Amino acid sequence: MSDQRNFVILLGPPGAGKGTQATRASLRTGLLHVSTGDLFREHLRNGTELGNLAKSYMDKGELVPDDVTIRMLLERIDRDDASAGCLLDGFPRTREQAEALDEALTSRSGAVAATVLIDVSDEVVNNRLGARISCSSCGTVFHKHFNPPDDANPCCDNVDLVQRDDDQPEAIALRLQVYSDQTAPLIAYYGTAGKLRRVNGDQSPGEVEDDVYASLRELIE
Ligand code: AMP
Repeated sequence: MSDQRNFVILLGPPGAGKGTQATRASLRTGLLHVSTGDLFREHLRNGTELGNLAKSYMDKGELVPDDVTIRMLLERIDRDDASAGCLLDGFPRTREQAEALDEALTSRSGAVAATVLIDVSDEVVNNRLGARISCSSCGTVFHKHFNPPDDANPCCDNVDLVQRDDDQPEAIALRLQVYSDQTAPLIAYYGTAGKLRRVNGDQSPGEVEDDVYASLRELIE
């Protein structure tokens, strides 16, 4: 690898498995996993002003405004632990965010080295999001059927596993609409640079992981 900071973007609709795959790809590549959704949820848990602002959009399934999101993301990638680059999960989600990232990376010795699109059918998305539960303390995600928590020791001590407000049916429908209107156009945006790979996200998590890793090896190693 060169001295350039490598940024990898994981694209895909809500429920594509971006979070799961970003965690796995991060372990295999050593790149830091940065999720804007997780950053917003962390702010919310810490009761910050940004967290409360974000909640009003997140609960409905809407996007948090670009200026706020871009500022938060840039602040995160400027920390020392991101010096080699990052795996971005859930960012960018709009053309304005993509352009802001390109501009920011130019002055930070970085570049988008790869974009991996995790392609999934609407049916699979609805199935996954409707049965997703997460730890209200650390945010670890489980699936009621495919990745159930251990009954005796669900996750962090004395906390509940809950369904995210934005995993309720109305919010899921809006998030899918927002994805197709605002985020799906980024497939063409990144496709033109020849650094976009598509992976079939309807496969098992292990198969998706292998395909994501193969794409990354081809593009960044
Ligand atoms: P996620 O965990 O990636 O599904 O994100 C949960 C919610 O956080 C989204 O539905 C948005 O409300 C908000 N969010 C996360 N990332 C972004 C982003 N890049 N731009 C705007 N809103 C975002």
